[in-house]
Amino acid sequence: MVQRIALLGATGSIGASALEVIARHPDRFKVAALTAHQQDERLHDLIRHYQPAYAVIGTERSGRLRAALAGQGLPTRLLEGPQALEEIVRSDDIDVVITGIVGAVGLGPTLAAVSAGKRVLIANKEPLVMLGSLLMATAQTAGATVLSIDSEHNAVFQCLPESTQQRITGAEVTDSTLAAADVMGVTLTASGGPFLHMPAEELACVTPAQAAAHPNWQMGQKISVDSASLMNKGLELIEACVLFGLPSCQVNVLIHPQSIVHSLVEFSDGSVLAQMANPDMRIPIANALAYPERIASGAPALQLQAVGALEFEEPDPVRFPCLRLAKDAARAGGTAPAILNAANEIAVAAFSARQLLFPGIAELVERVLQRLPVESVISLD
Ligand code: NAD
Ligand code: MG
Repeated sequence: MVQRIALLGATGSIGASALEVIARHPDRFKVAALTAHQQDERLHDLIRHYQPAYAVIGTERSGRLRAALAGQGLPTRLLEGPQALEEIVRSDDIDVVITGIVGAVGLGPTLAAVSAGKRVLIANKEPLVMLGSLLMATAQTAGATVLSIDSEHNAVFQCLPESTQQRITGAEVTDSTLAAADVMGVTLTASGGPFLHMPAEELACVTPAQAAAHPNWQMGQKISVDSASLMNKGLELIEACVLFGLPSCQVNVLIHPQSIVHSLVEFSDGSVLAQMANPDMRIPIANALAYPERIASGAPALQLQAVGALEFEEPDPVRFPCLRLAKDAARAGGTAPAILNAANEIAVAAFSARQLLFPGIAELVERVLQRLPVESVISLD
């Protein structure tokens, strides 16, 4: 049966990679809904090309897009605003939801998708960081299938035995899920970003454009800044704790500048399994779309002889304090990860608007974490 896909954030970097994989397999997948926030012209092109049943655009641009679509005879119903995102992911016309929205605004649609029991491919990691336990509990109750398409988490997932994978996709994760598979810990790799070896005093002079020029991955502005500050790895550490039921002390981070080994899993007999691939998001997306089968992703084959040496080093906690802040928030639990994430989103936006220097991102996040009390998470409100 052809799977009907809702692609949230279709005009972004994840959106583009997902569309390339989907387009390769018309026998398996159909684009049934496409969403975007502000890029109405790009969304218009995508609607004409894929002819989805639904499209959602941010309220600000809806008038323009509606006018552009008028009289074209397309089968697409155009909706607008955040409520519409939640409405379409719950629709009976959707089987699979891919969350490629950036930031905390993805929380509502992600929660709606898991509570409607869909197969949910999560790129949008911020909701998992903010409210991971609530999202996973909701997914389990609703019978949703949860697959992370963050490359590191997809790598860890691929290294686990099938019975453990099934528990993870069913969101039936407890603090003994990985221990039962004799896992001692996982190591997430980080490229280190564009400032890996930059002296501390120069970090105050870097521009948003320099931060966005990631050495190995083409990504949206926010995650590129997060990669440069290592906050992305901090968010991913919390994400790993949520997805795999691990305490933060069992999640390690290693800098691996080549971005070929996407993560590693250590077992009780001393074996370490790693997943390797070219740095290309089509690979984890194809893996999650087809799981438990495998399909072509369109990514070029990995040629290790061309890559040469694979290097690993410890992250520098002094120049990149965001990783420590995220670890502390993971340990504190409750609302601490949501506070960390919120402060980081504001700080990254300020840095990107040239209102804050790069080292100010970590300083601002730390100050907010010190000021706000951590409470336990009982509900979304
Ligand atoms: P991007 O900036 O390229 O795209 C963001 C998408 O979200 C766009 O389609 C935009 O229209 C939409 N969007 C933005 N604000 C919105 C709002 N307020 N309401 C509705 N839609 C909105 O971002 P990206 O790099 O594709 O990243 C998307 C998510 O995936 C992020 O959470 C990121 O951390 C995660 N992720 C990305 C990559 C990658 O390679 N790009 C890898 C792993 C995880
Ligand atoms: Mg990642």
